[in-house]
Amino acid sequence: MLIDKFGRQITYARIAVTDRCNLRCFYCMPENAMHFLPRKDLLTYEEMERLSKILTDEGVTKIRITGGEPFVRRDLIHFLTNLRKNTKLNELHITTNGVLTEQYLDQLKSINISSINLSLDTLDEARFLEITRRDEFTNVMSTFNAILYHNIPLKVNMVAMKGKNEDDIVEMAELSLSHPISVRFIEEMPFNGSNEDHGLISYQEILDILSSKFGELSKIQDPENSTAYHYKIPGSKGNLGIIAAYTRSFCGTCNRIRITPEGIMKNCLYDGGGLNLRTLLRDGSGDRDIAAALQTAILNKHKDGHLAEANRDKSTFESMSSIGG
Ligand code: SAM
Repeated sequence: MLIDKFGRQITYARIAVTDRCNLRCFYCMPENAMHFLPRKDLLTYEEMERLSKILTDEGVTKIRITGGEPFVRRDLIHFLTNLRKNTKLNELHITTNGVLTEQYLDQLKSINISSINLSLDTLDEARFLEITRRDEFTNVMSTFNAILYHNIPLKVNMVAMKGKNEDDIVEMAELSLSHPISVRFIEEMPFNGSNEDHGLISYQEILDILSSKFGELSKIQDPENSTAYHYKIPGSKGNLGIIAAYTRSFCGTCNRIRITPEGIMKNCLYDGGGLNLRTLLRDGSGDRDIAAALQTAILNKHKDGHLAEANRDKSTFESMSSIGG
């Protein structure tokens, strides 16, 4: 088992399979001047499968595949299918922007994907283009409808930003009225590949916007280790979540680690660095050596994201796509 020095067991790993993306969301990366990793620096699918096996042998039961945009990496479905053969893995989830995803939904359904997180920051086509700098709104909405059609559990994630899409919050929340989905509002985090600062809308402000439209929301039970606080508009089929990703009020029950596309294990989004798993996967280290290295690295996990941030090198500006958001 992988346990940190506060007694928290790690049961959830988020693996970013690429840093490349087919959108250029302004809050995630600059439009140009992104330096993507060369292929040789990415973990191979075989390396990620081996790593997943080591992780599940050590008690990880849930894996999320993310990126960059996972579907821009060739043969992703093959990799997911192989991961699904690991009987110790109870849950396999994926986070996607929905641009290329629709064509893979039959296969995702057939491997029994546990859920899809679809990123969508607005329901307005022009605003989508402004935010993502790519004209892909129609494809993403088509994916949204197709996920519902395939009856795959769906969470829609919207990064809420002052002066950009705060007036989309209500319309996005309304998606939960007639669809059995979770619509989640995320505080913007400082991972846009530069030191640009945008206007944060806090958890409380998001809640106030929702309450002023829908009246008092019912607070519902949050799943164990959830980063979202869940609410429901009375009578709705779905629910709402607010993720205080910047305020970081949920770190106490953290059960997760992240693996970046080049194989760095991070204990926290806000962590500067961590264990280089790629080196271990390529230097002949055995599975037990890698498991031991993971355990040692997990002992360095900070109590919360504020401490992790205080201890990071502030001279580099990471993009969420290279950490695996
Ligand atoms: N490409 C996939 C997608 O769009 O869902 C997976 C990777 S993307 C980095 C994962 C999530 O991180 C998306 O929901 C995106 O909106 C979110 N994200 C990116 N930059 C962020 C930031 N600076 N603050 C908060 N969330 C961010």
